[in-house]
This record gives sequence, structure tokens and C-alpha cells, in this order.
Amino acid sequence: MGVFTGILDLLFPQKCTFCRKLLHSGESGMCAACARDIPYTRANAKRSGDFFSVCVSPLYYEGDVREAILRFKFRNATSYAGLFGRLIADCIRENLAGEYDLISWVPLSAKRLRKRGYDQSMLLAMAAALELDDVAVETLVKHTDVPAQSGMGSAEKRRANISGSYAVSDAELVAGKRILLIDDIVTTGSTLSECARTLLGAGAEKVVCATLARTENEN
Ligand SMILES: [Zn+2]
Repeated sequence: MGVFTGILDLLFPQKCTFCRKLLHSGESGMCAACARDIPYTRANAKRSGDFFSVCVSPLYYEGDVREAILRFKFRNATSYAGLFGRLIADCIRENLAGEYDLISWVPLSAKRLRKRGYDQSMLLAMAAALELDDVAVETLVKHTDVPAQSGMGSAEKRRANISGSYAVSDAELVAGKRILLIDDIVTTGSTLSECARTLLGAGAEKVVCATLARTENEN
């Protein structure tokens, strides 16, 4: 350990991303107990959806994982990106090796980005790509935050609200490519479907997805 890193650890002791207990030396990002006990999807890492052939996720969106992702998304816990990227990269290596040409992410709208100050899915994509000796590149932009409409079921509402809100930022880049799209969580899959539909519409050959976490019930 370098002197500077040692001093930083004294001033700002590293805590476990999930349970927030102080880490012991040799632990990185999460404690040994969480590394063993967090809700891994394991054999259930894969799910399918409209327009994307598969989405893989290393974790279930519940308990301490859910709390950690909420801190990452809304409470500026951007330092979690390293560990989260590692978890996603491991899942990609295991399930999607050789199935993509290009790594990208589901973007925030410019308005949301200004408000939050960072795009959490871009951070995840960059961290995961780094682990895979690759780079993540922007392929999509999100135009609007469409207000919720009344009188529709929640899944329908969600689908209607996101329809047409994404656009390809560089059609030449995606044409003929198999794209790996990264996001933080997948619930209904409607956001990933809309992004995949947009990419395929611009000439992408295929879209596969990876998220840090997934909900358990919807498949
Ligand atoms: Zn822990």
C-alpha cells in the first residue's frame, strides 16, 4: 500500500458498499460476509425481453443491494462504481463472452443529468468496460422526461411514456454492430426494450443487455 493511500484510509476508512461496516485490510469494496451473502442471481442471471435477446444481472434488487443502488443513484455514492462494475463485468464474462462488439449504456436525459450531476449507468458501463479491458461509448441520447399520464395501467403507462424518447447519437457507429447495453436495474424491461428497438431501428445487428440488479418476479 502506498503512503498516500494509507493516509487516505486513515482519514476516510473504507466501508462496505452493502452493509457499511468498516472493511478489513484485503477487502475491497465489500466485506467478506457480503461477498458471500448478497443475493446473487447465479443460475437465474439471464432473462429475455422485447427487442433484446438477453439481459444478464449478477444481483437481485432487494435488501442491502437495493439500498446501495439507491445511494449510488441518488446520494452521490459514485465511488461504488468500481465494485459494481466488477460485479457486472464478471457476469458479462460468464454469460455474454463473444456476443457483442460495442459496450454502451442507457442514458439519462440532459435535464436529469444536470440535476443529478452524473449519469450512473454511464459510470457502470465505463467501470465494467475497464474491467473487461474495453471501453464504453455513447450510442443513445434521451430527449425528454415525459410526464406521467393517467388512465393507463402502470406497465402500459411506462411503455407509452418512454416510447420515442431515445435516439441514436451516431448511426454510423451502431450500424451492423452487436451492442451490449448497460443499465443499473431491470424491472419490467421496458426501458431496455425501447433502447434496443431504437438501436435496431438505426441498423444495429443485435442488442444484449447487462444490469447490476434485476427484480425477481418479472421474467
Ligand atoms: Zn458488508
